[in-house]
Amino acid sequence: MKVKDMGEFTLINAISDDVIFDPTTVIEGIGDDCAIYKSTEGYEQLISIDTMVEGIHFTFNTMSPYDIGVRLSTANISDIAAMGGIPRQIVISIAIPPTMDSAIIKSIYDGIKHQCKQYTINLIGGDTVSTSGPLVITMTIVGEVPKGKPVLRRRAQVGDFIGVTGYMGSSAAGLDAIYHTYQDTNVIVQSHRQPQPQVALGAFLRRIGATAMNDISDGLASELHEIADTSNITMVIEEELIPIHKETILVSNRLGNNPLDYALFGGEDFQLVFTIPSESLPDVHNQKDITIIGQVISKGDESVLMKGKDQSIRVIEKKGYNHFSHD
Ligand code: ADP
Ligand code: MG
Repeated sequence: MKVKDMGEFTLINAISDDVIFDPTTVIEGIGDDCAIYKSTEGYEQLISIDTMVEGIHFTFNTMSPYDIGVRLSTANISDIAAMGGIPRQIVISIAIPPTMDSAIIKSIYDGIKHQCKQYTINLIGGDTVSTSGPLVITMTIVGEVPKGKPVLRRRAQVGDFIGVTGYMGSSAAGLDAIYHTYQDTNVIVQSHRQPQPQVALGAFLRRIGATAMNDISDGLASELHEIADTSNITMVIEEELIPIHKETILVSNRLGNNPLDYALFGGEDFQLVFTIPSESLPDVHNQKDITIIGQVISKGDESVLMKGKDQSIRVIEKKGYNHFSHD
C-alpha cells in the first residue's frame, strides 16, 4: 500500500511496536508529545544526529530498505562508540514521498530495530512528514559515558601509538564487488550492506586510556587528519601494518586498483581509529580486531605521513568523501 493511502497515523502505528529493548531507561516511549528517558547517575549525556538522503547516501539499487535501516543506525551508534560511550535512545525523523510503498518504510524500520536489539537501544519517538523530493531519514541518538571519560579527538599526545579496529576499506571494496556481481567476496559485501558499529571496542579503548578516537565514516586518511588537526600533532603510519581484508586485495587485483586507495580513502567502514599512550600497548597486544599502525611523532605541523613498504615517507592527503567538495 502506498504511504499516502495508509495515512500518517496508521503508518506510525505500524512501525512503533517492538521498539524498547532496555525498558529500565525509558519512562515514556512513542505516543506522547515527548519521550521521557532516564539518565544514569555518574554519567555524561552524548547526543548526535545523522541524515541519509536517497540518491546521495544510498540507492535502492545496491542496498535493500532493510540494509538502509541498518546502515543509518550504525552511522549513529558509531558516533557514540567513537566517544567510548554506550548508546541508549534514538528518535527518527522521516520525510517520505507519498507514492512510496509503505512496505519499504516498514523494512527500513526492521533494519533499525534489528540494530536497536543488537546494541540494546530504545526507539522512543520521531516525526513523520511527506516530501516532494527523495526519501530523507534523520536519526538522533542519545548515549552515555562515565563522567569526565569521553574520548575526544583533540587529546592525542606525542609518543602515543595509533591503532585501528577491524579492516580498512572493506565497505568501498564491497561496493565495487556488488557492482561487478562477484560471488566470492561475501565478507566485504556484508561490510558495505550491513556495517557494524564498534561499541564494545570503543568502551574498551576508553577504559585502557585512549587519548583520541574517531570513527571511520569518511575514510582512514580523513579521520587521521581530523585527529592530527584538532590535537595539533604530526603522525606516521606504516603502509605494511594497515589491516586490509583478503577479499579487498582480491577485488583490487581484479579491477587493477590499489588496495591502499580503498584502505585510506574508502569511507563508511565504521571502524575506530584511536591513539593510546605507550603504557597501554600491552592491553591491546593480542587483542582481537585491534591493530597498531603508527605513532604520533611530533607537536605541530598537523600532517599525516606514511612509511611505505620501501621505507620511503610520503604525505597522506586529506582525501575522502566530502559532501560539498571533492578536493
Ligand atoms: P506530535 O504531533 O506531538 O509531534 P506526532 O503525531 O508527530 O506527535 O507523533 C506521535 C507519536 O509518534 C510521537 O510519540 C512521536 O514521537 C511518534 N512518531 C512519529 N513519527 C515517528 C517515526 N517516524 N518513528 C518513530 N516514532 C514516531
Ligand atoms: Mg510530530
